[in-house]
Amino acid sequence: MLTVAEALAAILAEAWAGATVQVPLAASLNRVLAEDVASDIDSPPHDRATVDGYAIIAADLAAPGNDIAVADFTVIEEITAGQIARYPITRGQTSRVMTGAPIPPGADAMVMIERSVPIVATADDAEQVRLTQTKVRVGQNIVRRASSIARGDVVLGRGHRLRPAEIGLLAEVGRGAVLIHRPPSLAIISTGNELVDPACVPRSGQIRDSNGPLLAAAGVRLGAEVLSVTTARDDPAELATRIAQGLAADVLLISGGVSVGKLDLVPAALATAGVRQVFHKINLKPGKPLWFGVKQHESRQTLVFGLPGNPVSALVCFELFVRPALAKLMGSAVITRPRLAARMAGDFRHVSDRPTYYPGRWQFDTSDAVAGELDRPTMPTVAPLTWHGSGDLRALTQASVLIYFPAGERNYAAGDLVEVLPFDE
Ligand code: AMP
Ligand code: MG
Repeated sequence: MLTVAEALAAILAEAWAGATVQVPLAASLNRVLAEDVASDIDSPPHDRATVDGYAIIAADLAAPGNDIAVADFTVIEEITAGQIARYPITRGQTSRVMTGAPIPPGADAMVMIERSVPIVATADDAEQVRLTQTKVRVGQNIVRRASSIARGDVVLGRGHRLRPAEIGLLAEVGRGAVLIHRPPSLAIISTGNELVDPACVPRSGQIRDSNGPLLAAAGVRLGAEVLSVTTARDDPAELATRIAQGLAADVLLISGGVSVGKLDLVPAALATAGVRQVFHKINLKPGKPLWFGVKQHESRQTLVFGLPGNPVSALVCFELFVRPALAKLMGSAVITRPRLAARMAGDFRHVSDRPTYYPGRWQFDTSDAVAGELDRPTMPTVAPLTWHGSGDLRALTQASVLIYFPAGERNYAAGDLVEVLPFDE
């Protein structure tokens, strides 16, 4: 049986980033860039005030040998955001500049408006202001032109997934449209004679199909386009029809029927449909029956995952295998998520003949004992959940991580280090 790492490598060896397509920026959330994006501007575009106040020549105010300086200035103009300076600053002069507006030529420091007092003057006198500042510095309260982006800089590279910050940046550098990888399409089939639609009341022997909605949601969350969500009875003819339809997608997820029971007809049905098996069964709990194969069409391919029927096993397999495959199909530079180290919250005995991914959750100590030590970083702590096995989806709603326990028997004590895979980023 393959290990989790070997199975993942075998899957990723079959997955290729999809074709590229230009989309409007507003439609690019969660997509992956297929181009390097260079800026057409400097940012900020000018030396920019970070406060409302007075632009001066620092040397006019700096007081040698004295921390606190006071001087009077002639106010020559006011510059608000969107305007540019009409006059340069010379000795003894200042312009009132609002946050974000350009610093006038000649000035090299901004004094906050809070450090100013107007000087009462007669009607025909020029406006005067008294500035009082501690430790005057050249460059204070000014961000220099191009300090965050210089024109021509590549600000985002291909493979970068677009979140709200990236979309804001793309707008800043003038991109109303971007080249992305076409998101993979997904078909989902839940198999089993016992399954009924979630809207039905199950009769004895029946259960509702949770895998269909679960897997569709998992795919949508990662940016896949769900083509179809259907069910099939454990019947070769019905499976053949559904599989033929599902092979229209880039990725086909079939749940149930991949184990070795009497009605586990999926591997044979996939073989009949011409899907080449890459592997069947892996050394993992939950998720041992996982099946993976590839259907080669004329000019494209479908990755086919036979996921275990138990919803928790299906979700664990999705997280460990389908998620990285979708990331690769989407062109993402980041395919596997980092495993984190965490400490066990309490004592726990783990016994299994297979490496196990066990639902758990972060535990945060909010007691007074640590409240005063927030400046001291602590290793995150996880607690295994009370879990009644692969059918226990309810426990999974409390889970924020999967805790990895190697095969074998081990008594974990509070504070022991374990490896965890967070569900969310
Ligand atoms: P199977 O792999 O088909 O033997 O299914 C394993 C277990 O998962 C059985 O108890 C099934 O009833 C259950 N199961 C299979 N498919 C689903 C589904 N779509 N939703 C909820 N439970 C399922
Ligand atoms: Mg079944």
